[in-house]
Amino acid sequence: MSTIAHWIGGGYTAGAATRRAPVHQPATGAVQHEVLLGEPDDVDAAVTAATAAFETWREESLSRRTKILFAFRELVSARAGQLAEIVSDEHGKVLSDAAGEVQRGLEVIEYACGIPELLKGSYSDQASAGVDVFGFREPLGVVAGITPFNFPAMVPMWMHPIAIACGNTFVLKPSERDPSASGFVAELWREAGLPDGVFNVVHGDRVAVDAILRHPGIAAVSFVGSTRVARYIHREASAAGKRVQALGGAKNHAVVLPDADLAFAADQLAASAFGSAGQRCMAVSAAVAVGSAAGELAGLVGRKAGEVVVGPGRDPASEMGPVITAAAKERIENLIESGERQGASVTVDGRGLKIPGYENGFFVGPTVLDHVGTGMDVYREEVFGPVLSILRAPDVDAAIELINSNPYGNGTAIFTNSGAAARRFQRGVHVGMIGINVPIPVPMAYHSFGGWRDSLFGQSHIYGPEGVAFYTRAKVVTQRWPFDDPSAGPQARASLHFPTAR
Ligand code: NAD
Repeated sequence: MSTIAHWIGGGYTAGAATRRAPVHQPATGAVQHEVLLGEPDDVDAAVTAATAAFETWREESLSRRTKILFAFRELVSARAGQLAEIVSDEHGKVLSDAAGEVQRGLEVIEYACGIPELLKGSYSDQASAGVDVFGFREPLGVVAGITPFNFPAMVPMWMHPIAIACGNTFVLKPSERDPSASGFVAELWREAGLPDGVFNVVHGDRVAVDAILRHPGIAAVSFVGSTRVARYIHREASAAGKRVQALGGAKNHAVVLPDADLAFAADQLAASAFGSAGQRCMAVSAAVAVGSAAGELAGLVGRKAGEVVVGPGRDPASEMGPVITAAAKERIENLIESGERQGASVTVDGRGLKIPGYENGFFVGPTVLDHVGTGMDVYREEVFGPVLSILRAPDVDAAIELINSNPYGNGTAIFTNSGAAARRFQRGVHVGMIGINVPIPVPMAYHSFGGWRDSLFGQSHIYGPEGVAFYTRAKVVTQRWPFDDPSAGPQARASLHFPTAR
């Protein structure tokens, strides 16, 4: 069994860690590695390396930074298959899904390759007589990322390519449940020519996170994970004077109107609810059937759920893998049971699923609960498993109200053939990312990703233009060179009143 070590200052190190955590293979239930759990001294070592590297990295030309980003892009692209295998083995998701995650991360790297264009400043010539005004953005310094288990390659890539392209140095604290992808990515950064200390990885749990939140050398924190922890991160990092964006959990509703193509909608809903065993922050976990759509939709979705091929992530025949831990399996099965107890009908039941040859794997089969009410635990909690709840609403306005009554506001979708209904929906919902006949509306890399309400704490969405803004701060210069400049006009004596343009 191998030990997964930190990556600090351009190489692996065991650092100060004495504690370890098991890393399972979810398909078999076996422990395949151990990961070191970092101590505050490890965070401090990473920040020291990143602080030293910042002094030179911030001075690197845009041209040289871009060359390194392009080289990194080529390496990630060339090794995408290997990275997907690492993700699949520790997360459990099927290989094609892991490859999709790597691809979406790669797109953020490609966006960051355009950093010279993205960091172009602004210039106002002759803002006043003989006076010009220009703005540009500078990096923040050492910035940190704390990431969840469900996208061990992609979610860190929402952060570090942009932060580094902007001239910052980076400390990543990945999920301790599937940590290997981060070391692999660190090696690719080094191979691409990134100077030592610009990208660092400290593994660990809450101890390492708290050390990051309190470290005075860290200027900003990006967090993605559950709402409970996101709220804590936002509060603590803000109190420590850091810039912070903290993305939380979700309960994503898909509304299906009776005028929709119901077979299409059911197909999309099932793919969204059961892909990655429902462990996506943008997975649809609540279908809201409007009016007469309900009966037929429930039947079609149930049929789709029953057809999903569940198995180990490495088997090309598998469409859906296991969930991340035995504890997650137990929690999900308990929530299904609570739904049943509280009055929902379990029309497709994934509890107790055993896959031949993988009897100890953490498998939960696709599950559909019909007639779910908003008071039930299975609706109120983020299940984060392959469970689709079906609710009913009399019309689109009632569906919008239902969505807005839920505390989360990450993603939502509507299936309809009516442009008017879709427009009413997109304007009415208090949700950050909306799909129209698109079940998982994750914005492309050149837009930004972020939910509303309990799905995001802080001002900034992540990656895209808001990512560049988050990892930089603005300077505006007002300049005058009056001595020899005829456009400056007669040199007026300085006045004591507040300066206004001439
Ligand atoms: P999590 O909140 O348990 O863990 C996220 C990170 O925080 C990990 O690195 C973990 O080590 C650390 N952490 C855990 N508990 C902590 C504590 N008490 N104090 C300090 N740090 C702590 O989340 P998870 O289970 O790894 O991931 C699943 C969650 O992430 C779901 O809620 C999902 O919706 C959410 N998520 C959200 C988005 C988004 O973009 N909004 C994207 C992916 C995942």
